[in-house]
Amino acid sequence: MSHSAEITNHSFASLNLAAPLLKNIEALGYTQATPVQAQVIPAALEGGDLLVSSQTGSGKTAAFLLPLLHQLVLANPHGSPVPGRAQPKILVLCPTRELAQQVATDAINLARGIKSLRIATIMGGMPYGKQIQAIKGASLVVATPGRLLDLFNSRAIRLDQVECLVVDEADRMLDLGFAEDLEAIDERCKGRSQTLMFSATFAPRIMSLASNLTKDAKRIELAHAGEAHANIAQKLHWADNMAHKHRLLEHLLSDPELDQAVVFASTQVESEKIADTLRANGYQASALHGAMPQAVRNRRLDSLRKGQTRILVATDVAARGIDVPRISHVINFGLPMKPEDYTHRIGRTGRAGRNGIAITLAEHRDRVKIRAIERFTQQPMAAAEIAGLEPQQKPSSHKPNHRPGAAKRSKPKFGGQARKSSGPRFGSRTGSFQNSTRQH
Ligand code: AMP
Repeated sequence: MSHSAEITNHSFASLNLAAPLLKNIEALGYTQATPVQAQVIPAALEGGDLLVSSQTGSGKTAAFLLPLLHQLVLANPHGSPVPGRAQPKILVLCPTRELAQQVATDAINLARGIKSLRIATIMGGMPYGKQIQAIKGASLVVATPGRLLDLFNSRAIRLDQVECLVVDEADRMLDLGFAEDLEAIDERCKGRSQTLMFSATFAPRIMSLASNLTKDAKRIELAHAGEAHANIAQKLHWADNMAHKHRLLEHLLSDPELDQAVVFASTQVESEKIADTLRANGYQASALHGAMPQAVRNRRLDSLRKGQTRILVATDVAARGIDVPRISHVINFGLPMKPEDYTHRIGRTGRAGRNGIAITLAEHRDRVKIRAIERFTQQPMAAAEIAGLEPQQKPSSHKPNHRPGAAKRSKPKFGGQARKSSGPRFGSRTGSFQNSTRQH
């Protein structure tokens, strides 16, 4: 059942949350609950499992944190000191370290000043000793699956007291190969009374994961892919080749309206190359990808948050969960592997009620991918041109590519059959380009 995102005027006061939480919500400047919050908070407080489809940027983190923190406050109303055992009541699983950090930061902000609430983060790439110390006495633990299981196996944490399990960005969990880890964690907190699962889509693989992890889950479907991101202007620039793409990129980055930007690359190597080129040309740019040591990633993210880095050149995995309100532009230099990654990428801008600009650079040979994104988002991407940087070839003719050496690619290349992970891939329905609008 689809619930539309029409709900407005939902004050937090009407959601019956504990007073200290309301105070923190106010201090964070949240005046109204977002649609996902207005639906998820009462449903989670009622108890029972939930399966929620909502986009990043919709306020989904607070949507699950608030009812869970509320329950913790009620369970310990006088704020009695918590025993120093490593046995959380609430476990939030995130697919990436960046997202785990972001969720933990949101939890800490929402729980500020409430003595009985201790929050800890468990994730790879951080020293074990410090994490083991931090989880003692924490009632809410935010974790990435691998490191959590490491700590469980070395008996540094018990999971038999977990009352509620949250699986955030379940679609990305599966993309990153965490299915078995999720199963193992599910086994270890079987006695829980509630599971909340969040995912950008309800694709069949997500439904099958949900049938293992949840019981009679209520479905809350908010972000219809086509409705999301109304505050983000999306544009497309056709490029003739790589050199043309670089010229377009530098032109776009010199926009005086640009505050901070994330440029997406297709690979780790590409992200470094783009960042190097930009730096060589005088831009404040740095790369972020999953092969970097965690300490370096943290430093670079921090510098982005503080506004010291203007341009972050990132891969999909590394950029997940980045929540920096000053990101005014997202530029897709390399196209995403899957149409749904496009949606996650552009959600890095237009945060916290602001407007954003998302620009995609594509070569003509990428047109099948562009059509797949348009089908997924259910929005045509308007093609724009920059005076002096117009493409020499026009893609709307659908003629074979005339570039020397490119003629062999007369058929779409993305057949989907040789891909390892499941889920929708480009090219699952190739061929029907006519339906999408092309504007020049
Ligand atoms: P999320 O979808 O959880 O990644 O949240 C996106 C952004 O919205 C974060 O920067 C939150 O701090 C912010 N946010 C969450 N809830 C609200 C709200 N009710 N009003 C305004 N901003 C919010």
